[in-house]
Amino acid sequence: MNSELSSSPKPIPYGRQNITEDDVAAVVDTLQSDFLTQGPKVAAFERAFADYVGADFAVAVSNGTAALHLCAMALGVNEESRVITTPITFVASANCVRYCGGTVEFADIDPATALLDVEKVRQLIESKPKGYYSGIIPVDFAGNPVNLEEFRKLADAHGLWIIEDACHAPGGYFFDSNGEQQHCGNGKYADLAIFSFHPVKHIATGEGGMITTNDEKLYKELLKLRTHGITRDPELMEENHGGWYMEMQELGYNYRIPDMLCALGISQLQRADAGLARRKGIAKVYDEAFADVPGITTLQTTAAAFGEASATGHAYHLYVIQVQDRKGLYDFLREHNIFAQVHYIPAHTMPYYRSLGYQKGDFPAAEQYYAGCLSLPMYPTLTQEEQQYVIEKVKAFVGR
Ligand SMILES: *Cc1c(COP(=O)(O)O)cnc(C)c1O
Repeated sequence: MNSELSSSPKPIPYGRQNITEDDVAAVVDTLQSDFLTQGPKVAAFERAFADYVGADFAVAVSNGTAALHLCAMALGVNEESRVITTPITFVASANCVRYCGGTVEFADIDPATALLDVEKVRQLIESKPKGYYSGIIPVDFAGNPVNLEEFRKLADAHGLWIIEDACHAPGGYFFDSNGEQQHCGNGKYADLAIFSFHPVKHIATGEGGMITTNDEKLYKELLKLRTHGITRDPELMEENHGGWYMEMQELGYNYRIPDMLCALGISQLQRADAGLARRKGIAKVYDEAFADVPGITTLQTTAAAFGEASATGHAYHLYVIQVQDRKGLYDFLREHNIFAQVHYIPAHTMPYYRSLGYQKGDFPAAEQYYAGCLSLPMYPTLTQEEQQYVIEKVKAFVGR
């Protein structure tokens, strides 16, 4: 197919939101209602989202980072805790442990998928006495589901909890060893899962986040922590002085999300399946375009590990290629109005984590992946013509 665009008339980002008239109407409706925050839209969004991913409970919060922080608090992370995560993630996956005073330990990725390598995590855990580690935070990087069943087995053998960072994977799934379909964030193998509604993510509310779980005790704790550690539930209070009475039982935060944003989230969620289908279509076109191009490597989906049934379970938040001259390609695409992005600079090489003792060279697979990775435009409203234009420019650069 020939590109109809010889040059791009408008900038093509790597990801962007899709706001429809229905979305606008939903927000306006709420603006004119009695509640701007702490109204009915919060619970309605939570219910709809829990149903979407197949979890029992959901807690909506102000952003994905707040979701991670509350999860770490609810699981009791403190100065004694050591928690394992991947260096190839947004830094918030690691930072939540630091907010609670705990120690972050990275383990390397599987170079084929760029996901946290369960064997590396196993080696790390088995190299230490029992009780040394508290938990694991695997990430469904790029929308590719991690093998949570494997992580669960490992976690159970060592008494660890799991927070699934599923920010990239609402609607993603894999088939477990029983042949059962497991949606990312459904709470079957992870204690808690978190999502973000930042505009580049699948479902956009501007800022916003969600925690999902099947654990009712954690659910109630999270509700309390989201709003200052305050409860109004008579069954949970030590005293009761009357209708006004509430108790602040622990030190929580204001991590609430307003009703306007939940109304937007509910509206967006209704189009989630269509958006996901479009993302998969875009990925297929990229896959075919780059399949036989020397100099371009694409990431494997977890289908290789879970079997063909899971091949469709990738949620494609990102479409990553790896090339020799990544900076050259990045700059070349920018000159042509294509704003590809790099996901991620390995967290352990950030000055902050280096100040805690990590060094370049600690995780060679992650660092090698970073040296060549580039995320190409991937969002539901990317047109066929725009995608062809991107493919043409990528091939032109790599082939010269
Ligand atoms: C976006 C993202 C977050 C943080 O979400 P915010 O809503 O931006 O705070 C955490 N982890 C991953 C993997 C993300 O992509």
